[in-house]
Amino acid sequence: MRLFLVLVLCASLCSVPTISGETIMPSVASDNQTQPWMKATSEKLQKQLIAKYGEDQHARVDRGLLQVAEFWRAEDGDAAVFEDFVLSNFAGDQTTLNTMFNRFQNLLEQLNGHMQEINREFRQQADLDAGPVLPFDDLFAAYDPAAHVVDDFFKNKLAFVVLLNFPLTSLQERLEQGPNWSRQQWAEVRLAQAFSKRIPAAVNLEVARAASEADSYISQYNIWMFHLLDQNGQRFFPPKLRLLSHWNLRDEIKADYSDAQHGLAKQRSIQQVMERIITQTIPNVVINNPNVDWNPWTNEVKPAAEKDSDLAPSPGEKITNTAEPSTRYAMLLKTYQAARKVDPYSPTAPTLIARRFDEDREIPEQRVREMLQQVLTSPMVPKIAQLIQARLGRPLEPFDIWYDGFRARGAYTEAQLDAIVSKRYPTADAYKKDIPNILVKLGFTPEKAQYLADNIVVDPARGSGHAMGAAMRGEKAHLRTRVESAGMNYKGFNIAVHEMGHNVEQTFSLNEIDYTLLEGVPNTAFTEALAMVLQGHDLEVLGLAAPDAQSDALKTLNDFWNTYEISGVALVDMGVWHWMYDNPNATPAQLRDATLEIAKNIWNKFYAPVFGKKDVVLLAVYSHMIDSFMYLPDYPIGHLIAFQVEEQMKKSGAIGPEFERMAKMGHVTPDMWMIHATGKPVGAEALLAATEQSLARVNTAK
Ligand SMILES: [Zn+2]
Repeated sequence: MRLFLVLVLCASLCSVPTISGETIMPSVASDNQTQPWMKATSEKLQKQLIAKYGEDQHARVDRGLLQVAEFWRAEDGDAAVFEDFVLSNFAGDQTTLNTMFNRFQNLLEQLNGHMQEINREFRQQADLDAGPVLPFDDLFAAYDPAAHVVDDFFKNKLAFVVLLNFPLTSLQERLEQGPNWSRQQWAEVRLAQAFSKRIPAAVNLEVARAASEADSYISQYNIWMFHLLDQNGQRFFPPKLRLLSHWNLRDEIKADYSDAQHGLAKQRSIQQVMERIITQTIPNVVINNPNVDWNPWTNEVKPAAEKDSDLAPSPGEKITNTAEPSTRYAMLLKTYQAARKVDPYSPTAPTLIARRFDEDREIPEQRVREMLQQVLTSPMVPKIAQLIQARLGRPLEPFDIWYDGFRARGAYTEAQLDAIVSKRYPTADAYKKDIPNILVKLGFTPEKAQYLADNIVVDPARGSGHAMGAAMRGEKAHLRTRVESAGMNYKGFNIAVHEMGHNVEQTFSLNEIDYTLLEGVPNTAFTEALAMVLQGHDLEVLGLAAPDAQSDALKTLNDFWNTYEISGVALVDMGVWHWMYDNPNATPAQLRDATLEIAKNIWNKFYAPVFGKKDVVLLAVYSHMIDSFMYLPDYPIGHLIAFQVEEQMKKSGAIGPEFERMAKMGHVTPDMWMIHATGKPVGAEALLAATEQSLARVNTAK
C-alpha cells in the first residue's frame, strides 16, 4: 500500500530516483525502550482476552500484545492506559474484525486520496505550464501534508489499533505464506505494514539532512568541459559545456559515438575525469569551476587560458592540484550514519539493506544478487562484446560499457515525425480528445478505452511530462504533457504515450481492484514496464509502420548491454553498503579505499575478461551511490521485469486485456504479481532469451 506517499512518476527513462524510502518516513518523538510494567501487564491481559474470546484467539492475542508492546512508549500512557486500550480495542471475533478492517480501508483511502489531492493542487504552479513560478510556489510544491500522519496515528493510537489486530510480517513470511493468503489477508498485511516503524522525529530529520546535503553536493558537481586539455594541450569540447557528474558525463560518452573525428579522444578524457572523481584524485579547484584549465592525465592545473563563463573565481582561490579530500565518501558515510539510526525503530527490517530489499523491493537480496550474476555471466556477453568491437573497428575500452551504437535507423526522420505529430495534436486538448482512439489502437475495447479516457485528465506540463495518479476512487489520474506553441512534437508524443501508460495502470489498479489497500503495483519497476509497453507502440498509434524485426533486435541488444553495465554498478552499490555496516566507524578515506577495492573486484570478475583490462574503477561513478540510499539495484531489476511483461504481451497478442489483467493484481510481492502475469517469478530468463534471438537475427542480417 502506498500509504501517505505521493507517487509522481517521472518522464520516461527516469534517471533520478523518485523516492528515497528513508526520507519519506513519518516521524514521532520518543525513545524505544520497553516499559518496565509491560511484561506483567501483557501476561495479565493475555489471560483475560483468551478467557473472554476463547482459545482459538490465543495466537492473535499473543501477536497483538507483542506488536503493541514493541512500539508503546512512556508518553503513550501507563499500565492502566495500556490495559484499557487493549481491552477496548481487541477485535475478538471475525465480524468485529471485518468491520474494523473495512472502516480502516475506507477511511485510509479517503485520507490518502485527499492528501494526494492537496499535494497535486499545491504542486500545480510548479508542475504545469501556467506562467512564472514565484519563490513561494516552490514552498507550496515542497510541502507534504501527509508528512506527519503516521506520527499522528501513533499519538491518537489508531496505529496501535492496527498493530493489536493485524499481523506484521517478515519478507520471508510474505514469500512463503503469501501465495496461500486470501486477497483480504494480503490487504490486512499491507495495512499493518503502514505502521511497522515508529521513528523519532530527530532521527528522521537527520536522515533528511544527510540526504539533502548529499543531494546538493551531487547537484553542483559540474565539470566545465571546454577547460579539459588533452596531453597535447588541445581542447576537444565546446565552450560553455558544463556536465554534471555522472549523468551528463555518461551521456556525453554515449553521444560521442557519433563523432567520427574527435569522439574517441573525448570519450577517453571523460573516462579519465570519472576515474579522478572516483579515486578522489581530482583537483578540488576544478570542480564546478570554469576558471581553471585541467589536464586529467597529468593532473596539471593552470588559470584558464580562454574564458567561456562569467562565473567569477572564489575569492582567494589558489590554483593548485590539491585533491578533493574524499568529500564524495564523507557524504556517503553521512547517509549511512543517518540511515543506521533508523534501525532500532524498524523491527521487521532492522538495516537499510533489509528495508531496501525486504520492504521496498520485496525480493531477497540473495536472489537479486543471483539474477544480476546470471546477466553478468551470460554467454551472450562475450558475443555481444565481439559484435560491438566489430562495429567500432577497434578493441573495446572500459567506457564502452556505455556503448550506444545499437540504435536502429527508423523509417522516418525526427522532422517527419514532428510534422505528423504537430499536425495531429496542435494542443493538449487535441491529444485528450484522441485518447479513446489511441487506446483502441493499442488493443483496448471501445468501452474500456472510453472508460479510461474518462478517468484521465490531461494538463499542459512545465517539464517534459509526468503522470500523477489518484489515490481514491472518484478522483482522476492526471497526464501532464508538453505541447510546444507549434503543437506537440514527436518526443513529447512519445513521452505522453508512456505517461498515459502509467495513468492506465493507475486507473485499473485503483478503480478496478478488489481492495484499495492493495492499490498499485509491487514497486515502480512494474508500472515502468507497463508504461514502456504502450510507449513501444507509439508509431502504430500514428498509423505508421511498427519498427521492423531488425530494429527490434538492435533495441534488445541495447537493453541487454545496459543491463549488463548497470548490474555491475548495482553490485558495487550493494557491496559498499555491506562494507559500511561491517565497518561502522570507518573514515571517508577508508570508505574510498574500500569502494575502489569493491569496484575493481567486480570489474575483474565480470568485465575484465571481455574488456581485456583489469582494475578499472568506473562502476563506482554513479552519483546515486552517494545520495540515494542503495537505489541502484532497482535499475537492472526494472530491465528484467520489463522483458518479462513485454514477452507476455507478445505471447498473448493482445495488449489491452492483458494490461488490464496484470494491473488489477495490485501491490502483492513481485513474484506473486509476475506469476499471475506470466506464469513465472521475476527472473532474467526473458531478457536472456530475447537477447539470444536478437543476436542471431542481427548476426544473420550482417
Ligand atoms: Zn515512467
